[in-house]
Amino acid sequence: MIASTESMPLRPEAEVQLDANGNLRHLLTLKGLDKALLTEILDDSEQYLTAPGSLPARSQSLAGRTVGNLFFEPSTRTRASFDLAGKRLGADVLNLDVNTSSRKKGESILDTIYTLEAMQVDVMVVRDASAGVPAYIARNVDDHVSILNAGEADVSHPTQGLLDLLTIRQHKGAFDELTVAIVGDIRHSRVAMSASQGLATLGVGELRLISPPALAPDPEAVPEARIVDNLRDGLDGADVVMALRIQRERIGNLDGIPGIDEYFANYGVSNERLELAKPDAIVMHPGPMNRGIEIESAVADGPRSVITQQVTNGVAVRMAVLERVGRTMSAK
Ligand code: ASP
Repeated sequence: MIASTESMPLRPEAEVQLDANGNLRHLLTLKGLDKALLTEILDDSEQYLTAPGSLPARSQSLAGRTVGNLFFEPSTRTRASFDLAGKRLGADVLNLDVNTSSRKKGESILDTIYTLEAMQVDVMVVRDASAGVPAYIARNVDDHVSILNAGEADVSHPTQGLLDLLTIRQHKGAFDELTVAIVGDIRHSRVAMSASQGLATLGVGELRLISPPALAPDPEAVPEARIVDNLRDGLDGADVVMALRIQRERIGNLDGIPGIDEYFANYGVSNERLELAKPDAIVMHPGPMNRGIEIESAVADGPRSVITQQVTNGVAVRMAVLERVGRTMSAK
């Protein structure tokens, strides 16, 4: 956690996210956002989905606004989808080249942010490897600026959580009867954290987090989940199976972490192991995939896979979130 320069006690992130009227101003975490708001965002996202092969949905609701993408960690899907989402809403989109940015020269993150603020960037989409950065920025920007968390260390990835919820809802409808099994490196996964928080708020029937013991989460971080170390037990009767990548970039010491072959043998999602899940179970993965490690290619490309639909939903969800914070700004 980075230090804050504020002398006031910090408000919980969930409160910082909403303005005095309860409207979404920043999106930092799904934790603390209520069911009504999450459902509204999912409903809004649906309007940005069009039939495959047709033109993508567009609006001018962000015309005149500027969205800045600041990715201080690698990204393919999230960055591209925020870029497209902003453009399809009519905004100017600035993709900061982080490799050549002044932060590399030692400029503090806030100086970078204030520079963009001075150029009238309204929404800053931030990905960072350090926990606490999006909230720290949100507490220090001008009133009219919105911060959207596009992936924060191993803590939070709220728009990914929303697109995962949307994909599950499209296939399965109500959440309360569902068993969702998330398998992989849960301990280091911001995707698992945001999905777990959102699923808990929407009242999922059962949530299982499956991993080798060395990659299991802190139970206090996911009180809503059943922590399981055996894949067969975890997949039994599941409606939704989400596979996750091992986050090697966040693991200092690989002791206790199985090698590739052992990992696939015990935790890889294969067609043979999916026999244990419900016959109509869907398979998800946030990408990037390591085929043959956490997921078999036959599964990733097979009939139960909704992985490309997750990507499509990612653009729609990010349009819905951008449009919503834009509305909050305009209401000031
Ligand atoms: N793309 C996701 C993330 O940024 C998942 C991953 O990197 O494995 O967290």
